[in-house]
Amino acid sequence: MTGIPEVTLNNGVRMPQLGFGVFQVPNEETTAAVTSALEAGYRSIDTAAVYGNEAGVGKALAQSGIPRDELFVTTKLWNGEQGYDRTLRAFDASLEKLGLDHVDLYLIHWPTPERDLYLETWQAFEKLAADGRVRAIGVSNFQPAHLRKVIDSSGTVPAVNQIELHPFLQQAEVRAFDAGHKIVTEAWSPLAKGGELLSHPTVRELAEQHGRTPAQVVLRWHLQLGNVIIPKSVTPARIRENLALFDFELAEADLARLAELENGQRTGPDPDTFNAA
Ligand code: NDP
Repeated sequence: MTGIPEVTLNNGVRMPQLGFGVFQVPNEETTAAVTSALEAGYRSIDTAAVYGNEAGVGKALAQSGIPRDELFVTTKLWNGEQGYDRTLRAFDASLEKLGLDHVDLYLIHWPTPERDLYLETWQAFEKLAADGRVRAIGVSNFQPAHLRKVIDSSGTVPAVNQIELHPFLQQAEVRAFDAGHKIVTEAWSPLAKGGELLSHPTVRELAEQHGRTPAQVVLRWHLQLGNVIIPKSVTPARIRENLALFDFELAEADLARLAELENGQRTGPDPDTFNAA
């Protein structure tokens, strides 16, 4: 066993702290990547309608023979599908592509504030949860102001907020809001997409000190902060490497050195201004 810890969401559902992301993996390559991940020991998979690879994920899950209750599947509602009825239809389409009868976590992909539909969309999410078609509902890329509106209008606190988060962009404010409201923070692009961060001298030095790779040091930093992480790789050796995180520990001083890397650098859009459909 890989020893992946779980976090308990605010509705009691348990979620692996480490999962596997498939953003930008073409559908026809996704089955192989997810199969490698399942073989390595991952049980949580993070996809989205807009990635166009839910079918590839579903095929790998079906072929694996792993019991459904040992898997944790997340997908996301795309921006152009927000609104009550559209959300319910988009959810049906996602389930069909995944070949599942429920998902474990369904997320509103972006708030798209200009569209101003996320409160109505959230009502559809509450219905999906009440109907037992999703085990937990959450959001992605929500800033505290968006979260506050959701909580005030519905009384239902999102279980998860999946945000861009890595040592260059540590999201102190959003993480504090999440923690204060029992929302689990999940880090997307936990490796900052693998480039500059993994070749940063501080990361390389810590990797050398611990006899680990730069990616393992960064992922271990996330785990010690309590973040849920979903690193993506299509490379089998890296898929395994990103899971080998449970037999070493960073010291407080190491965490402090990584905290110094904050520079506010995003690899993706700013949620306050991203309104693409
Ligand atoms: P990551 O930070 O996970 O980085 C992925 C990149 O890093 C790939 O190019 C991969 O290369 C490389 N890489 C992975 N492991 C290693 C390693 N051990 N050593 C060196 N390089 C490595 O970026 P993502 O943007 O993919 O984020 C992860 C997941 O988060 C996504 O797949 C998706 O599920 C989710 N996400 C959610 C978003 C949202 O808006 N909610 C937005 C963006 C992502 P290779 O594959 O070639 O091995």
